[in-house]
Amino acid sequence: MARAEKAAAQQQRADAAQGEASRAQQVRTDAGFALAQSEPVAQVLVLGRLAHLDRLFEYAVPQKWQAAAPGCRVKVRFAGRECDGFVVSRSESAQTERRLAPLQRLVSEVPVLSPQVLAACREIAERSAGTVADVVRLAVPPRHARAEKAVLAEAAERQGESSTGDAGAASAPPVADGILDHYAGLRAFLSYAGQEGPPVPRAALTLQPVDGWPEVVTAAIAQLPAERGALVVAPDTRDVTRLAAALDGAGIAYATLLAADGPEKRFKTFLRVLLGHVRVVIGNRSAALAPVQNLGLLVLFDDADDLHREPRAPYPSALTTALAYSRSTGAGLLLVGYSLSQPALRLADAGYLKLLSPLPDRPRTEVQPHIELMDDYLREREGPSGHSRLPSRALAVIRKGLADGAVLVQVPLSGYLPAVACVRCGERALCPACHSTLSLPGRNRSLSCRVCGQLVERFECPFCHGDRLRALSTGSARTADELRRAFPQAKLLLSGGADGPLPDGELAAGTLVVSTPGAEPAGLRVAGSYRAAVLLDGDALLGRGSFDADVEAVRRWRNAISLVCPAARGGRVLVVANAELPPVKSLLLADSLRFARTVAKTRQELALPPYAVAAELTGEQSAVAEFVRECELPEGADVLGPVPYGEEYRAVLRVSPAQAPALLAALRATTAARSARKAKHTVRVRVDPPEVF
Ligand SMILES: [Zn+2]
Ligand SMILES: [Zn+2]
Repeated sequence: MARAEKAAAQQQRADAAQGEASRAQQVRTDAGFALAQSEPVAQVLVLGRLAHLDRLFEYAVPQKWQAAAPGCRVKVRFAGRECDGFVVSRSESAQTERRLAPLQRLVSEVPVLSPQVLAACREIAERSAGTVADVVRLAVPPRHARAEKAVLAEAAERQGESSTGDAGAASAPPVADGILDHYAGLRAFLSYAGQEGPPVPRAALTLQPVDGWPEVVTAAIAQLPAERGALVVAPDTRDVTRLAAALDGAGIAYATLLAADGPEKRFKTFLRVLLGHVRVVIGNRSAALAPVQNLGLLVLFDDADDLHREPRAPYPSALTTALAYSRSTGAGLLLVGYSLSQPALRLADAGYLKLLSPLPDRPRTEVQPHIELMDDYLREREGPSGHSRLPSRALAVIRKGLADGAVLVQVPLSGYLPAVACVRCGERALCPACHSTLSLPGRNRSLSCRVCGQLVERFECPFCHGDRLRALSTGSARTADELRRAFPQAKLLLSGGADGPLPDGELAAGTLVVSTPGAEPAGLRVAGSYRAAVLLDGDALLGRGSFDADVEAVRRWRNAISLVCPAARGGRVLVVANAELPPVKSLLLADSLRFARTVAKTRQELALPPYAVAAELTGEQSAVAEFVRECELPEGADVLGPVPYGEEYRAVLRVSPAQAPALLAALRATTAARSARKAKHTVRVRVDPPEVF
């Protein structure tokens, strides 16, 4: 290899003089190589780390890298180092008078960055106040040579096959699609998604509990013409597994892209998708910009789930990514969930999304379980135990459910006793080392700090010197202990918390699952997995210190309710929370729209997202303060902080949605200016992060 390169280099030097002479008018380059015969200039997006250099740079294309087409990955010299980059375009002449450095190497002749993905990356970077390079890095996985070789061989084979006729294509059984008829406008939406060209349909579909989202999405994909592609993004691996099972059942071929995939598998799947070997792609956030050929339908399940949030810069939300990708590809966008998110409602009110609601074609008892709130009437009727955390009513619901099926108990907090207080003075027990909340990890265990790990063998209250403790909150492990004593015959399973969620599996009658929200395992068929559910400590879920706590609680409750079979088949849910609170009351309503509208009205009045755009700046104290000073904020922008935030400092900038473009531009300009002058400390910028207020 090295020898061949050396020979090639000699040949180039021989050709160099000639090449230079013939093109000297258009392109000035370093000497020592032959220039490509046609379009000898490449505009390259360099995947650098420097925000002020986030634009295209021109390079000369040596003859030996003539095949460097737009979308190809290349190596270039940049700021004295070898960097990865992508050719974005080629041209006959250069924009600059400077001498152009040559492309160092063409990594692969496969154009892996499509114009549509690049366009989406640009929009995402703008909306997240980040760099295009960072977003492209998220979109295109690093090349894996062995994976590429295998997929290209597969491609050659496929080509051979298709020329001998398509006899191998087995006719799949028709997919049951009656489920689509229960939602007004869904079929019309899908027929538009199946067509090429405008109008591009965009909609938010709020499902009824009886309809499993994997079945709905599978039926929707089956409506697309064979040549149209589909991409489905769901929050976590388990959601993706559930969808995979539904697609398998319908005989629909698909590829899976997960953040947990190794580099070889990830690149292999990416390439098979890019080359059109598979037209349906499912996955979590790492699939969000998969280069599906002829993309017709982009589905985002449960868009408000935090797991969708990309943890790497520039931290785009799944919705931002999906909106940008739908725009750049013209693919229909369908948000699917059991509750409507605030950003989706705002887009609908702006006329950008259509809300698809269930038709009143089925009786209530056939679409959702019987839902009951532990209200004052029930509490009083029960007597003293009615006010306890686990009232007799809840035990009765569990008992009855266990007789006929599996029962779910949802507990917001994991652990044993997540927070404890001094019995005598009521002060919360805090870590002597870092002042975080101390928790009790189990019976007969020492108090410990979940932040720094400090163990406290003997508690002595620093305020009153008391040494006895009481629980401030109860976790799922402690709840499981209590239920084990109450239901010794039940098969008790604990899901979520330190051990992670349990996988889905058969949930036989007599199984009692205690789970944190979002970790609930499902049975073999997702919808109707449970005969009953008890949602405990609703007030703890609502009392989280975030502006979003109410909407988030409703989302988690409605997701749990979707796992319980309808009332007509004995399904029952008891919610133990303050029944007077609007989010709790809203669970009795058939759809979540009315509650979403109430929340939207309040947020509009209080200028909370999505009726304001907030940017969070975190980092070293003086750096954050300096960033805020230097940022040319639009008129009327709120500046909150900086204030201490964990180990760092945080400031929040807030503007009206109309001023968002100005704020985003100012943030990018400030980041670029700091990068250009090599500011000592970096400041992390996140746009509309969850829990910002
Ligand atoms: Zn005390
Ligand atoms: Zn600590």
